[in-house]
Amino acid sequence: DNLNINKKYKTPEEVLKVLFGYDTFRPGQKDIVDAILDGRDVFAVMPTGAGKSLCYQIPAMMLDGITLVVSPLISLMQDQVNSLNEAGVSAAYINSSLSDRDLFETVKKTGNGEFKILYVAPERLMTEGFIELAKSVNISMITVDEAHCISQWGQDFRPSYMKIVEFVKILGKRPVISAFTATATETVREDIVCTLGLGNPYVLIGGFDRENLYFQVDKPKNKEQYILDYIANHPNESGIIYCATRKNVDSLYEILADKGIAAAKYHAGMNASERKQMQDDFVFDYKSIVVSTNAFGMGIDKSNVRFVIHYNMPQSMENYYQEAGRAGRDGLDSKCILLFSPQDIVINRFLLEHKEVADIDPADLETIKERDNQRLQVMERYCYTTGCLRNYILKYFGENHENPCEDCGNCNREFETLDMTDAAKKIINCVYEAKGRYGRGIIIDTVLGAKTARLKEVGATNYKSYGVLNSIKRSMLMRVIDQLVYEKYLVVGDYQVLKMGDIRRLKDSATSVMVKITDEDKRPEKARKVNK
Ligand code: ADP
Ligand code: ZN
Repeated sequence: DNLNINKKYKTPEEVLKVLFGYDTFRPGQKDIVDAILDGRDVFAVMPTGAGKSLCYQIPAMMLDGITLVVSPLISLMQDQVNSLNEAGVSAAYINSSLSDRDLFETVKKTGNGEFKILYVAPERLMTEGFIELAKSVNISMITVDEAHCISQWGQDFRPSYMKIVEFVKILGKRPVISAFTATATETVREDIVCTLGLGNPYVLIGGFDRENLYFQVDKPKNKEQYILDYIANHPNESGIIYCATRKNVDSLYEILADKGIAAAKYHAGMNASERKQMQDDFVFDYKSIVVSTNAFGMGIDKSNVRFVIHYNMPQSMENYYQEAGRAGRDGLDSKCILLFSPQDIVINRFLLEHKEVADIDPADLETIKERDNQRLQVMERYCYTTGCLRNYILKYFGENHENPCEDCGNCNREFETLDMTDAAKKIINCVYEAKGRYGRGIIIDTVLGAKTARLKEVGATNYKSYGVLNSIKRSMLMRVIDQLVYEKYLVVGDYQVLKMGDIRRLKDSATSVMVKITDEDKRPEKARKVNK
């Protein structure tokens, strides 16, 4: 309403050019800046790399007073402040990494109005010292970065984010509030707007599509070999390989090192100086590849990453799109490849089960676990879908595209569609007989009528289903099961066991199970050794 705009710069374009060196705004940026300068709250959901920071940094420079940016990550704050200072913007941060002395200095300078932008950790907001400081200065805007952290529906809920709400209340004059996130489903979006009390905000959702990214899911028998081949075929390209665990990082790193491939590695088990070294080696192109857990990447702005390979399936689409989105920030064509094996689901279940939930009320734990599990299932279905991968991702983030992109692993794959309803029903009968105790290996062996000791041991050789599909190829049966899981007729339980899902629809004779198959599925099968 009565926002004061200083006269230092004439237009947002001027700030963009003078301070940041860019000529044009990216889609969405200008509208957000204008809305803020009009005194309107803003809520923007934009993917990683879209350029959210400038959306609040530019108005911050044009408004009188100071902009507070609430941000959850210390490393991110430091990076942002460093690059702002380099651009000639007076900015600072207040978080637990500051020494008492630096804290004192920062507070003093803030009080003197020396900063245009102050980053602050959410835990700090409601401390006595900070409240006093906040009341003594003119806060024109509060920016909430990673705004999804305020939602209990989101995956990184941080109770300390609720302090923002309290903090705004105790300020005499309510500043403009702008909130940004890269990941928010519809529920989370509504929650953010409501919790932060945004009043008639300008909302921008989208720009999620990154046209230069090529999405692909592969299920190689040997992931290490796949990666070695990929690197051999893409020499000198910069890439990130994400693994689910430190152990995977270490072993893949060893394998690459053995082959003489210059890679860096990164995980939280390494000490700070090792990590810094590895990060620099990668960022400054001394090593073109980094093998890492998802600890790597926060705040890393390396533009020429040509591929992001996921050695394991991540825990959620949010994670996946954020990590994969680190490819191709320069706008050039880049690949995002997910290597899937059913084992990944087991690993992720374990990781979620043992996830550290720091400041969460135990009462919320059940709900959080449940939601984690749902997100994992959505991720799993991404690996099974034979539809357009790009559309699958965009739909999850709220963008509906009618037509397949014609430029992803699935769109480019030759699928033949077969009606496998009969086999599907037989498999379901077998799962029923197995009483949800066994994984796909045993189920497939059973319907194939394999003569293995294990089948005898579990009594599957006596099932009615034993041998009923002995004329069908194993890989085809895998596809059928994939499809049954995808359509929720079957459910994958702990330890990968197959359980009955909702099969009511299948009772309708008009319902069929169509399975898309690839060329690989049609190749003759290698004889399998059977251990008697
Ligand atoms: P996000 O926070 O959305 O992940 P950033 O704010 O870190 O993205 O921006 C990603 C990169 O894009 C940064 O290197 C930034 O300088 C650059 N960038 C942002 N806006 C523009 C623009 N209008 N023109 C060119 N580059 C831009
Ligand atoms: Zn597609």
